[in-house]
Amino acid sequence: MAREEFDLIIIGSGPGGYVAAIRAGQLGMKVACVEKDAKLGGTCLHRGCIPTKALLHTASVLDEIREAAGLGIDVSEPKLDVGRAQDRKRKVVDGNARGIEMLFKKNKVTWLHGFGRVTGAHDVEVETPGGTDGKATYGAKNILIATGSVPRDIPVAPADGEKVLNSDHILELGRVPATLAVLGAGAVGTEFASIFTSFGSKVTLIEMLPRILPIEDEEASAELEKALRRRGIKSLTGTRMAGFEKTDSGVKLSLEKDGKADVLEAEMLLVAVGRKPLTENLGLEALGVELERGYIKINPMMQTAVPHIYAIGDVVNTPWLAHVASSEGILAVEHMAGLNPKGINYDRVPSCTYCEPEVASVGLTEAKARERGYDVQVGKFPFTALGKAKIIGKSAGFVKVVRDTKYDEVLGVHIVGAHATELIGEACVTLQMEGTDEELGRTMHAHPTLSEAIMEAAHAAHGKAIHF
Ligand code: FAD
Repeated sequence: MAREEFDLIIIGSGPGGYVAAIRAGQLGMKVACVEKDAKLGGTCLHRGCIPTKALLHTASVLDEIREAAGLGIDVSEPKLDVGRAQDRKRKVVDGNARGIEMLFKKNKVTWLHGFGRVTGAHDVEVETPGGTDGKATYGAKNILIATGSVPRDIPVAPADGEKVLNSDHILELGRVPATLAVLGAGAVGTEFASIFTSFGSKVTLIEMLPRILPIEDEEASAELEKALRRRGIKSLTGTRMAGFEKTDSGVKLSLEKDGKADVLEAEMLLVAVGRKPLTENLGLEALGVELERGYIKINPMMQTAVPHIYAIGDVVNTPWLAHVASSEGILAVEHMAGLNPKGINYDRVPSCTYCEPEVASVGLTEAKARERGYDVQVGKFPFTALGKAKIIGKSAGFVKVVRDTKYDEVLGVHIVGAHATELIGEACVTLQMEGTDEELGRTMHAHPTLSEAIMEAAHAAHGKAIHF
């Protein structure tokens, strides 16, 4: 029987792969997406963005109920049922997975269920799960690698799913540990620290770099650390885990900061030190695709060293984010379709951490802008000075706008505070349109809203905030 031929075969159905598949379908390509898991959606949907935010929402409602008395509402002390919170999380995830299946049908995308590997320049072999139906090979004019990543273990404390957890394990936890040590204070570690603090754990964050959320603006990191401290989360920054052992009751960490030793005991350790790209056993190197430290090397159009083989998302060395993977997927497909798309400006990637309070940013930090040689002026506006923040009882944090004085262009916006991850959208549009600080400040914002803080911070960057 003649093998089936496709215009495009995508390996991996995460936010990179499935979005690329839909776009290819829209463009009239005959497209297939290979996925080894039982459901479509990848890390983002099943082990990342969506399930963490579902648990964060439970955590946030729990905290709101605890604070209800302050709003004049008497309720009894809320009690968390972890099992039901997990069930709700699964319902959210499953609903979204079914949504992707429907979108595949609507856009005539074929789902090839199994493990995919590239066996020839235009050949993709799919091995069905469990190998029950054997293997089949399909032909592809273009191939897109979107196989994503998995949690990275550390040799001294490999994850066992019981006392040493990775993000996959902790998402499925059926109970709340009394004490939790979190190694790595990036977005993932900080979000879980936030969830489990609301759930009742005593959490310690350990970060080797000098501050938590190290890629964010320095002032944002400092503000968050202060806010987390108020919530009872201890942040040990500039601290290295020098030793590790399991004990009867949990784990014992030997810590080292500035040559001083310390010991931390906890019931569980979450290792959140990063992820490993899934690029092994795909047959790539044999075809001439180049890799560097496990990442696939690509050009600005997402082409590998073999021009009809593209790679996107967590397998390439760009920010590990779902929206980056999706944008790269659309770019790759439009390029292979000959649409001559514009490349991605990675300076405009929004970065969001959905802890309490939230942190969101887009563009250059103040330090990065100075490093690049801009003459910088900064405007800051605290949520304590904003009516809406007081109304909702969330006055922690600020908005910071970084502008260049030559053209007045907005170079970066940094927000710590309630709904920061929603507010950042307006800043993304401003940067995309190369808007000026003056335009941002003169854009009328509805009152009373949290978004007024962005307008005020823009005014502040010209030294004329009204309410502060
Ligand atoms: P993935 O989502 O990893 O998908 C890859 C898919 O390929 C998987 O389904 C896998 O089964 C499949 N696959 C792999 N190899 C094969 C093979 N050989 N054959 C067939 N199928 C294969 N990002 C955000 O933007 N916002 C967030 O809030 C956010 N929160 C996160 C929270 C956590 C806890 C984690 C771990 C990550 C989070 N991320 C977040 C990051 C985000 O999930 C990833 O950047 C994103 O999922 C990468 O998308 P991808 O398409 O490259 O790969």
